[in-house]
Amino acid sequence: MGPSRDTCIFCDIINKKAPAEIIFENEDVISVLDVHPIHYGHALVIPKHHSRDFLDLPEQLFPPMMHAARIVARALVEEYQLEGYNIFSNNGEVAGQTVFHFHLHITPRHADDNIRFVLNLKRYAGNDLGEAGLRLRQRVHHLLHR
Ligand code: 5GP
Ligand code: ZN
Repeated sequence: MGPSRDTCIFCDIINKKAPAEIIFENEDVISVLDVHPIHYGHALVIPKHHSRDFLDLPEQLFPPMMHAARIVARALVEEYQLEGYNIFSNNGEVAGQTVFHFHLHITPRHADDNIRFVLNLKRYAGNDLGEAGLRLRQRVHHLLHR
């Protein structure tokens, strides 16, 4: 388990107990500049409700999160005249999550910025792609109908 809301840096920022460069705030969401940016302007979009990860966040908070993400992305695009940006979220320690209060990253991208997410792409063997699709379709069906 990660820290609870009592020891959570993002809850401290939300409660104004820790400083942050806030660029957007409403009753559900806050957005701040990341202190260790992938590139200048790298922003975090954080629900005010303390949830550990994507699956822990109450579903009704996704529309306000996407609303905030779009405003912040548009501000970054205009301010830095961006040709592109990444929106991503790390969920779980093995996925690189270090702050266990769900958040989206929005990071500016530029031509020749030399930023690489190092990937090791796999190839499905035989009918493994079809089998994975079948199993996951069944699992989704059970989740929707249980
Ligand atoms: P994660 O690794 O969990 O996906 O992302 C956590 C992010 O929060 C990191 O990019 C890290 O730089 C940022 N971060 C950690 N502590 C603070 C802080 O005190 N203030 C701000 N603004 N960002 C933080
Ligand atoms: Zn928190």
